[in-house]
Amino acid sequence: MAIHLSSSISELPGIGGKALLDLKGLGVANVRDILFYVPYRYDDFSIEKAIADLKSGDTATIHARVREIKTRPLKNRKLKITEAFVEDDSGEMKLVWFNQPFLEKTLRPGTRISVAGVVDTKFGFQMTSPVHEPFGQRVHTGRIVPVYGLSGSLTMRRLRGAISSAMPAAVELVDWMPLHLIESLKLLRLDETIGQIHFPDSRETLERAVARLKFNELFLHQLMFAEVRKDRQKKVAKAFPVNEEILKTFTKKLPFILTASQKKAAWEIVQDMAENQPMNRLLEGDVGSGKTVVAAMAVAHVLAAGGRAVYMAPTELLARQQYEAMRLMLSQAVVGLLSSSQIKLGEADVSRSDFLQSWVSGEMVFAVGTHALIHEESIGQLDLVVIDEQHRFGVEQRHALLGRSDPAPHLLSMTATPIPRSLALTVYGDLDLSIIHEMPKGRKPVATKLVHESERSGMWNHVRGQIIDGNQVFVVAPLIDPSDQYGSKSVKELATELKKKELKGLRVEMLHGKQKPNEKQDVIERFRLGKTDVIVSTTVVEVGVDIPAATVMVITGAERFGLAQLHQLRGRVGRSDVQSYCYLLADNLSVRAQERLRALEKSTNGFELAEKDLALRGAGNVFGSAQSGFPDFQFATPADAELMKKARDLAAELLATDPTLQEYPLVRERIEQALDQVHLE
Ligand code: ADP
Ligand code: MG
Repeated sequence: MAIHLSSSISELPGIGGKALLDLKGLGVANVRDILFYVPYRYDDFSIEKAIADLKSGDTATIHARVREIKTRPLKNRKLKITEAFVEDDSGEMKLVWFNQPFLEKTLRPGTRISVAGVVDTKFGFQMTSPVHEPFGQRVHTGRIVPVYGLSGSLTMRRLRGAISSAMPAAVELVDWMPLHLIESLKLLRLDETIGQIHFPDSRETLERAVARLKFNELFLHQLMFAEVRKDRQKKVAKAFPVNEEILKTFTKKLPFILTASQKKAAWEIVQDMAENQPMNRLLEGDVGSGKTVVAAMAVAHVLAAGGRAVYMAPTELLARQQYEAMRLMLSQAVVGLLSSSQIKLGEADVSRSDFLQSWVSGEMVFAVGTHALIHEESIGQLDLVVIDEQHRFGVEQRHALLGRSDPAPHLLSMTATPIPRSLALTVYGDLDLSIIHEMPKGRKPVATKLVHESERSGMWNHVRGQIIDGNQVFVVAPLIDPSDQYGSKSVKELATELKKKELKGLRVEMLHGKQKPNEKQDVIERFRLGKTDVIVSTTVVEVGVDIPAATVMVITGAERFGLAQLHQLRGRVGRSDVQSYCYLLADNLSVRAQERLRALEKSTNGFELAEKDLALRGAGNVFGSAQSGFPDFQFATPADAELMKKARDLAAELLATDPTLQEYPLVRERIEQALDQVHLE
């Protein structure tokens, strides 16, 4: 049966049952989706050699015949080792796999195979855990090979095979990019791009495919942005004259003194809101620099003049936390919380209709919530919208709330992503920027250490000591459920083990995405109240969680996280004047991972780390900007500033010649699709 873009992935060979579910979990349902599921890096197996020409350390593909294969248990370990001896016309070598005894059946003596891997000579002349496929097939060997993010039971071989089978459908992709741009920028066509991004003919074509994907999203972003801006520029906002009394009263009640940057940012914000044009300001500050209180000042200022505001948080945990924090700081006002699992008015749990009623009647003047809030049409007529961790919201989501009010609300977005000022202007056009560039007084940099195997028991002793001194601890693991695929311990395994051994007798709880929202809240609440000592968690604690009594962050499987994510995780501690610690535990330390973790040891500055991250990522890792936290983009990174400017100029040019894109229906459609997608979320 022919494969089409709209075919279900279940029609691809090897995709059924669990693999189908695992792919759906990654957002891949049909053939189009899988074609756009791009690799995050590549292995270059394009060099093909005769066995006799191989040297230790070579990465290469050989074409050979299996002479002999056998499996035996490995001494003192639960591992089984499978060894194959293969030969070509020039010589012979050994191939070694662990825990794959079934290879004896697929690689019977006499089978001709292509094999790719790294040659090592430590235990004889061999390749350890190489990839193989039928002779000359060139999906897994003999080329630049794509490496994808996996999930659940999905294996690289299966996914790569499925994508290779989906490839013929790429010709059905309709290219929406105006032809004159494809020509003048020498871009690959969309179908060529998809072909080359998965199975590149050469490094050069791979680079061109990457450039095309980056340009796609940058250009689309600029067009969408222009759309939103056009709407917004016509708008008038309610002016809130600067009221210094309110600010002073607010500041006096705080248990700490604001930093100079916090004061400056708050001042810039209230001045913006004194105009009858809608504010569009981005507040940028490293993790822990104290953005929440600045937002609270803006809210207090608006409420005092009889205005109304909402605060958008990216997760339920964060919405709840910020709700409590805001209620404390805005003790006079009636505040509500709306997330998909919790609706509150002050102390009380209420129904959705009571919540909305309270808003409509004007009793409630400030609502904190998650994405769920965007969909409540009756939460209109706003004076101020605050969006925390703004890159977690789509461009249109951010503006959906804004569109409902007339006069338009003022907008304050917040981010911990270190975007240089010049770049922010290119990405966001004419938005204003406030930067908090200092930490609250008395903060000590989080002491960060990459912990070696031999130092681990000492480390856990130190962790115990911290707890006995009344401090609290986060332990992060990369997975929820046990899995032998990566060699990292899961949250469940780790929690069980720690309770039995290293942290015996202490109060340890788990936190992860499979728990119900209420369960998660309860775990965090008990921790906040000091009723638990340790939370073993996935990265659900990554964003925004603020528990100042937590002073130790232990990250296991640390090599599996990107630098930006590690910095975010570390930012959960060091939130008071007590010395905090971040311990990095790695299972498999590649050279690159080691450099990343060393960078984290050396610096606690988000800006510096972002730069280091870009430098380290280099050519091997083409994508992965989801980890860099660069707003809105899957492919582009801050290093693409030039391309970004080009996209901005070309988008402006296109809109200048054809404001409604009449001549470019495909572009029009693509923009609408993108806008719809964010509406549906
Ligand atoms: P982020 O910028 O990461 O969102 P938060 O707003 O969560 O940071 O603030 C981090 C912690 O620092 C909070 O516990 C907050 O109460 C505290 N904090 C904020 N500003 C100051 C300050 N000027 N002095 C001392 N502590 C502060
Ligand atoms: Mg925050």
